[in-house]
Parts: sequence; C-alpha cells; structure tokens
Amino acid sequence: MERTLGIIKPNAVRKNVTGKILAMWEDAGFRIAGLKKVQLTKAAAGGFYKEHEGKFFYEELVNFMTSGPVVLVALERENAIAENRRLMGATNPEKADAGTIRKVYGDSYTENSVHGSDSPESAARELGYFFNVFETL
Ligand code: ATP
Ligand code: MG
Repeated sequence: MERTLGIIKPNAVRKNVTGKILAMWEDAGFRIAGLKKVQLTKAAAGGFYKEHEGKFFYEELVNFMTSGPVVLVALERENAIAENRRLMGATNPEKADAGTIRKVYGDSYTENSVHGSDSPESAARELGYFFNVFETL
C-alpha cells in the first residue's frame, strides 16, 4: 500500500464539488486515510510550493491557493502516486484526457482543481507537511 497527498483546490471547493471529487478517488480504488478542510496562509502555501519559488507562475499560484479553503486528503491504494497522477490528468486541464478530474473540474492552468504528489519523496514530505500521525488512519 502506498499513500499520496491529494488537495481539492479553492476553485473546486467554491464550485461545491468536494464530494464528487472524493467519490472519483473512492471509485478509482483509493481509501481516504485522512481528510480536512483548511484555509492556507501565504506562508503555508508558499512553503508547500517551495520547489516552484521564483517561477513566473509562483505568485499567482500562492494567491490562488490562499483564495479560499482547500480540502487536504491522504489517499491510499496500491501504486497510489502514479494512479492518482493518471486519474488527475495533465496539469493544464485543456490537455487532460476525458474522464480525468482536471478535465471535468479544472478551469485553467492555475485553477486546475486538484493537486497530487509526484514522487515518493514528495508524497512523504507533503503528507508530513499537512497531517500529523494521529490524523491518517
Ligand atoms: P500539482 O503540483 O498541483 O499537482 P503538477 O504537479 O501537475 O500540479 P507542477 O509543475 O507541480 O504541476 O505545478 C504546480 C502547480 O502550479 C500546477 O498545478 C498549476 O496550478 C501551477 N502551474 C504550473 N505550471 C504552470 C504554468 N505554466 N502556468 C500557470 N500555472 C502553472
Ligand atoms: Mg506538482
């Protein structure tokens, strides 16, 4: 079993499709090991996206990620990291395959509805960033 961090981003929370996205994960065989809704501060979002600091889209990304609540999800299944990347689809929703979460709920490159960890190292860092040991069961 492998775990990955999913985030339902502010545009999707605003559209009131949190439950529908959680259902897409469950229907794809993921178990929800941890779940919470939070309002990120600039510091929290900036630290989370530290690898992108200095890139042209960083400020817009941090502004967007703090524009409203997000839902943090610890997801578990076999091959969870790769399977979630597949289920989410391409970063740019316009390029995402039919049936993927970003194709269905993404609005733009920045407002692409969900995040998913991209490697075992990222998953460990990101899960530890947002969840303590009592919160993933
Ligand atoms: P995420 O990390 O959110 O799961 P990703 O791994 O597919 O997405 P990254 O390269 O890690 O993509 O970029 C992080 C986020 O930054 C993207 O989800 C997107 O919202 C934003 N982003 C990345 N590249 C661009 C870009 N060229 N223009 C606008 N926003 C971008
Ligand atoms: Mg990424």
